[in-house]
Amino acid sequence: MIDHLRNFNQGRFDIVTGSAQSGKSNKLITLINSFLGDKHELNNNLLVIKHPYDDKETASNISSFKKRSINAIECETADELADMINENITHIVVSGIHLFDKNIIDLCNELVMSNRIIVASGINLTYEGKPYGSMAELMAIADKYEIMVARCGFCDKYNAYRTQRIIENGKEKFQPRCLVHYEFKGRPDYNPHLINQEPSLEAIVGPMFSGKTDLLHTRYNQIINKDRVTIFKWIGDNRYSNDQVVSHNKDGIPSIDITNTNDIKNYLKKNKQINSIMIDEVQFIKGSYELVKELLYKGYRIILTGLKRDFRREPFGYPDSEISKILTLATEITNMYASCYRCKHPATETQRIIMENGIWRPASFNDPIVLVGSEESYKAACRLHHKMKDAPTNRYSNRFNKIKI
Ligand SMILES: [Zn+2]
Ligand SMILES: [Zn+2]
Repeated sequence: MIDHLRNFNQGRFDIVTGSAQSGKSNKLITLINSFLGDKHELNNNLLVIKHPYDDKETASNISSFKKRSINAIECETADELADMINENITHIVVSGIHLFDKNIIDLCNELVMSNRIIVASGINLTYEGKPYGSMAELMAIADKYEIMVARCGFCDKYNAYRTQRIIENGKEKFQPRCLVHYEFKGRPDYNPHLINQEPSLEAIVGPMFSGKTDLLHTRYNQIINKDRVTIFKWIGDNRYSNDQVVSHNKDGIPSIDITNTNDIKNYLKKNKQINSIMIDEVQFIKGSYELVKELLYKGYRIILTGLKRDFRREPFGYPDSEISKILTLATEITNMYASCYRCKHPATETQRIIMENGIWRPASFNDPIVLVGSEESYKAACRLHHKMKDAPTNRYSNRFNKIKI
């Protein structure tokens, strides 16, 4: 559990995302003003960047619908952005991070590792409903999330988490839409028995030992009508039978063991009363992104837990990280911290440890997943104390001075 008396002792990456007209720019301006304190003038420590294709009408400044604006430097590539980081820069604000090239992932990672604070706004999904650019991976390496919400432009009733592209009188328009009224090619049919509820997806993410499953159980206990909710628990892929689910009831929390997405689909087919589903350890389930996407647009309320990064600090399953893509679909992301095994500060990472002849060492990037004749285990660590031998370098490695915190 977190020792709340200790501060965050490392760099941080905050992502602001959401639908069109949800106030992302306004939120970014509020955050910039909070960095600046009372002075309200850009000082040497702050770099405010805007991608030129992000809101083309307001070149060189970030402006919101509330008519607030702040000066920004236009920048088109991750390399250009890297060139602007000097030793004084401690805070970086990026508007339109979804428009940058793939190198932005490595760049953000290196900047956070140098203890800098990044705050970025970006569009999570394209209007076809797919993760936008590198947003999925960026969301996996982020630490904090603000999912901004507009009101659905179609029903004016539910919250809008999506952006609908509309052609009106030959002109392209973008309208915020709720999950019920958002249309895209291949959208699954709405489940008729779920028609009266607003679908939602809460992702509870964080390193190992951060209490994700405990929070899932708390969410379960908060649900009044228990007949309509089921917890699915991944139990590994070492069973022979694929179409059998086993149920447990521990501490009054029933759960269903599953090994693949079909187990969940079959269970829901047989149990039509279910309107809310919970999934524990979603990162292990192959096909989880497509499953979660389908169930969400069918109208289910979903709460899931998952490891968003592996012990290498890479998005879990990288380069095809399903949990990263799930984060782009979320209506709420709850980020959990553990306690660092060395300094007790909030831990964002999972440390893999190898025990050989009674002595433990940090795992190497290249250590095989199964090590014969040795034992492996995991601890939670802050970035400062997360150790990994033979970590691969990227184009920005060792480029930035470490900021003292
Ligand atoms: Zn709607
Ligand atoms: Zn630590």
